[in-house]
Amino acid sequence: METSAPQHSNGQVSETSSTEEIIAWSLERFAEQNVVITTSFGMEGCALIDMYAAPGKPLTVIYLDTMFFFPESHKLREIMIERYPHLNFVNRGTTLTPEQQAAEYGEELWKSNPDICCRLRKVEPMREAMKGVDVWVTGLRRSQSPSRAHLQIIEWDWSFQVLKVNPLANWERQDIWKYVQEHKVPYNELHEKGYPSVGCTHCTKPVEGYRIGEYTRAGRWNGTSKTECGLHGYGI
Ligand code: SF4
Repeated sequence: METSAPQHSNGQVSETSSTEEIIAWSLERFAEQNVVITTSFGMEGCALIDMYAAPGKPLTVIYLDTMFFFPESHKLREIMIERYPHLNFVNRGTTLTPEQQAAEYGEELWKSNPDICCRLRKVEPMREAMKGVDVWVTGLRRSQSPSRAHLQIIEWDWSFQVLKVNPLANWERQDIWKYVQEHKVPYNELHEKGYPSVGCTHCTKPVEGYRIGEYTRAGRWNGTSKTECGLHGYGI
């Protein structure tokens, strides 16, 4: 599962293809199309960006600033922009301010109805961002949660009507952590502060006993049954 700079693909990929082959294939196969990577500045996204940056091709990295980012995520974004000057980091987050949201939907919508809050601040902005995109590359992994267990390396996203490439589908968090260390990839300081997963300030908590290199979504929407924001067709 370990990867280095992508090599040339053999023109096709399958479930048994290496990550290098999947990345090389996606870059070659869709060279003339609009390919974007998305990230929420968690560890997987950083590793994925590093892998796609290695061949030196200009690519767009989309992130959705919900206006509830942790300061650590803003700091990491600046570090990533500096480290990968050939990548174009683009914020496609909502323009709905927290004040406007409170006036229209009530105070602390993330508590009263987090599904609507996620729809307003993540899902709808992503739907806008995906207009005109041909290929969406994500850092999703199957073992992140039961709802992601059936993730395909190449799949059609019916919700956003776009081809999705998930090169890290088979990776474990330990593999990601190893890659990040070996390639000196910048990563979110939140991971060193007890946060396995990175999200909004209101809905992301540190997990007791968590050690960097492990993964759980226990810190997300803590105390509710919600486990996904709905960006990937799960949860809402
Ligand atoms: S994660 Fe929480 S604050 Fe962020 S958009 Fe979803 S409900 Fe709102």
